[in-house]
Amino acid sequence: MRRTLIAGNWKMNGSSAVARSLASAIAEGADAGVDWLVCPPDVHLSQVASVLTDSAVAVGGQTVSEYDLGAYTGETAAPMLVDLGCQFVIVGHSERRTLFGETDSDVAAKAARAVMHGLAPVVCVGETLEEREAGATDSVVLRQLEAVAGAIGVSGMAEMVIAYEPVWAIGTGLTATPEQAQEVHAVLRGYVQQQDAALAESMRILYGGSMKPANAASLLAMPDVDGGLIGGAALSAEDFLAIGAAA
Ligand code: PEP
Repeated sequence: MRRTLIAGNWKMNGSSAVARSLASAIAEGADAGVDWLVCPPDVHLSQVASVLTDSAVAVGGQTVSEYDLGAYTGETAAPMLVDLGCQFVIVGHSERRTLFGETDSDVAAKAARAVMHGLAPVVCVGETLEEREAGATDSVVLRQLEAVAGAIGVSGMAEMVIAYEPVWAIGTGLTATPEQAQEVHAVLRGYVQQQDAALAESMRILYGGSMKPANAASLLAMPDVDGGLIGGAALSAEDFLAIGAAA
């Protein structure tokens, strides 16, 4: 049985005071029936982790360096995230891919580094509208997933969470229909199944892309949708908690 995971990606938003109060409101309302994760900006990780000590809410980074230490200005290493209390890290978010030029092999290297240090990578995959319209959705998400799977193997995949995030649905207000999401989630689970049947049963595959309280229940009701990766709505404790309650 897979436990639903409700994950919030706060992106580059909020002062430290906002981050602390958002974390504290989420911790207060977090229902034990699902797993919770928040990914604040790196600069707020320490304060958010301290607010969330002894709560049901885990903390994660939004990206990670593919290196462990050294002259990599501006980067954050996996051991640093672990040191601050992170258990998860998002890798391959479409904003990292499109705005910062991360390639499939960069994402794979980041996921590998995360796994090496005991961080669970939340691996984002997703097609652009153009790719969907060209009928390339499955091949795009499988290519992205395969790159990571090849780098971390079945043992690393056991630590991984997959997030299907159609690029055309992120921050746009457009959401995949539950059927569209289910279709892609089933393809992704099918790929995991080919690697390891038991792993396919336990692998959590989240949907992300304008998930909100109003559409969460129907998306989360799909058999292969095991949670959500939420951007905009994760900045409101009320909305974020309502999405968890809809699960
Ligand atoms: C995201 O950035 O991962 C995301 C899903 O954003 P939003 O919920 O705002 O579409």
